[in-house]
Amino acid sequence: MRNVVIIGSGPAGLTAAVYSARANLQPLMIEGREPGGQLTLTTLVENYPGFADGIMGPQLMEDMRKQAQRFGTEIVNGFVHKVELQQKPFKIHYGDEVVEAKTVIISTGSSAKLIGIESELRLMGHGVSTCATCDGFFFRGKKIAVVGGGDSAMEEATFLTKFATEVNLLHRNENFRASKIMVDRARSNPKVKFSVNTVVDEVLGNAETGVTALKLRNVKDSTTSVMEVDGLFIAIGHNPNTDIFKGQIDLDERGYIKTQANSTRTNIPGVFACGDVQDPVFRQAITAAGTGCMSAIEAERWLEH
Ligand code: NAP
Repeated sequence: MRNVVIIGSGPAGLTAAVYSARANLQPLMIEGREPGGQLTLTTLVENYPGFADGIMGPQLMEDMRKQAQRFGTEIVNGFVHKVELQQKPFKIHYGDEVVEAKTVIISTGSSAKLIGIESELRLMGHGVSTCATCDGFFFRGKKIAVVGGGDSAMEEATFLTKFATEVNLLHRNENFRASKIMVDRARSNPKVKFSVNTVVDEVLGNAETGVTALKLRNVKDSTTSVMEVDGLFIAIGHNPNTDIFKGQIDLDERGYIKTQANSTRTNIPGVFACGDVQDPVFRQAITAAGTGCMSAIEAERWLEH
């Protein structure tokens, strides 16, 4: 029986681990399929306070992990495939193991959405990317495309003009979810070219050549075309990693865990959620860490009571 089981090992989970370990709760962290979370896919992090010259994402996560372990966090490698939260103690299943817990901190984060075509998966890492910050550098002097019509797509298209000679923004309709200021900024950049009502049917290329072109379709008139590009960035949003909690914890219409105002409490007493899994808005390492701290303090108080 554990006092605290933390599911997920990004900035939220690791901060919860530091705080709950220092409160002498000997937390168990089950780290998930991507230990360290999304920051391990990035390069330089310049907006995490305390690092005047920036810090590499993987290094920041490695340091947080060591800090959590220094105070007695036990970190196990494993993926939680089932939770039983309708009973006390809670039961967490990972691999062939089951662990009982008095409190649970959920910090399973979110994952980038994909278009849903076979070729994007086949060429992922070979010219297809979901992270402009991580991979933009590889496209210096190249021609690329960005899919999406939200703030992420506008931000990434503008950012990628630092490297690419031409950035083609492909959006499946003609209205943008992005804020006007972000659309205007992208539109005013001479390197960004907009194609609206346009979907990617196929990414062409192979592991040796990388991405060579995209097969596009205009959804209004069904005409098709081929656009030669060296890379494709998919910026169509994120999905919270909440599949295992469906039917047990209150989720919002997009699948994010609902937490109470000014708190990380979920609808189940003793279960707390922090980081991107409950935050569709800010999604920053520092906000994730902040809510991770809140979760640990709330779990500690809950155990005391
Ligand atoms: P988003 O606002 O949900 O936008 C997703 C975009 O991707 C939409 O334009 C959507 O098109 C398109 N899309 C979704 N599925 C698609 C598919 N299968 N194929 C092609 N296109 C698809 O997501 P986001 O841009 O990641 O933003 C998420 C949140 O973070 C927002 O609240 C945003 O404001 C915030 N954010 C803020 C900033 C900033 O302020 N600096 C930066 C990034 C993100 P439809 O419109 O046709 O559905």
